[in-house]
Amino acid sequence: MIESERKIITASAAENLDTINERVVHRLIPMLVAENITRVIEYESGRIMPRVDLWNCVGMKMDKIFMAQQGRYGSRRDFSTSLLVDKYTILKELGIPKKGRDIIRDDDDTTKSWLEKKLEQLFSSGAVYIDSVGVNICNNCGYLQSVDSVSLASCTVCGNSRFHSEKRNVLMVDIPKDRESLIKDKIIYPQNTKYIRSFFDQLPPRIMISRVREYGLPLDSIGLEGYVLDPKIGVALMPELVAEKYELSELTLTQGATVATHNIPYTSVLTNGFRHTYLLLPKIPITSLEEAKNIGLSFMARYLPFAILTHNSDISPARLKIIREEYARITWKIDTIIFSLRSEEGQSVNLTPEDHQILTEITRDFIEYRVRVGQKKLGKFFKAQGRRYAEEMRHKGYYLNPTDIDTIERIVKLLYG
Ligand SMILES: [Zn+2]
Repeated sequence: MIESERKIITASAAENLDTINERVVHRLIPMLVAENITRVIEYESGRIMPRVDLWNCVGMKMDKIFMAQQGRYGSRRDFSTSLLVDKYTILKELGIPKKGRDIIRDDDDTTKSWLEKKLEQLFSSGAVYIDSVGVNICNNCGYLQSVDSVSLASCTVCGNSRFHSEKRNVLMVDIPKDRESLIKDKIIYPQNTKYIRSFFDQLPPRIMISRVREYGLPLDSIGLEGYVLDPKIGVALMPELVAEKYELSELTLTQGATVATHNIPYTSVLTNGFRHTYLLLPKIPITSLEEAKNIGLSFMARYLPFAILTHNSDISPARLKIIREEYARITWKIDTIIFSLRSEEGQSVNLTPEDHQILTEITRDFIEYRVRVGQKKLGKFFKAQGRRYAEEMRHKGYYLNPTDIDTIERIVKLLYG
């Protein structure tokens, strides 16, 4: 396999929890970014890329909602599945059909047995270890909340705010002193990583990764009966599972910037054999599917996921409005030019080799995440080349040949929706 075929881009395992029936789009942005870039890679390379969806179905919030709805779902897994069914309904409306996608959940049997084996390896190499550590135990329900060096708000299970400290054997992982090593050469976007680095500087020197939960990966096989693996570790190990399954040399993950410390440190410390890189995305305003439809699905699902890669901070509602106005202006201009070029009176001419070269450069810019550069070149292409063709050629009685029109249209559709 050639090297470029051993890279894919996918979204980091997303938490499979929405407020039920809240048909939201903003949480799916990392998947849309990965999908859009994958489509450009496919256009450019002419080959089909794997689509891999990673889901975090194990977690305390989901456990609690499941408990509260006792009886409505046959099992905890059925409950998780029903949440996913809702998500794929929304994704379909956003132009991402479920068919052909490899859906990997952290509560799948195959994922669990892979994780168990991986964890045993990490335990025998000493990368994770059991230690007697002072932990905070809830006075009311006895829940093991955290290591006792962490300041507390309230118990995750019962909400009580009184704790006492006890020594317990728990599973720990060390975070290297050199925090730079966790992210060095890994963050593709944003270019300025100063504030992201500050999250990493605040990590404690070691972290407890065993939890007391009903649902999750049991730690019996490494001698910690009654505990499960912290879900964030499952999430952090999943990229290696994907790399193994698809024989990848590199996996680029898209995810929200604010949750960078939830998985990157552990993926860096606990996995190997492949390169993992990240696009850490700014947030967009909370958007329901209905709102997205009103705004326009082409904009929301195709243009916006690229456009956010040209912004350095979270997208406010006011900023979103400006991006929408830009989009409306650009697409109107492009539509007008393409309409003029398509005229079929007179003699057909071809795009010049230079024009083709520019179009190739533009798709490469998007694949290599230089979205702003690519957008500028496309703007220039339509301003100079497009106008020239459209006006001068029409004047002389020429029109652009249909194959070249198709090429331009395909690229515009890929990049602008
Ligand atoms: Zn409690």
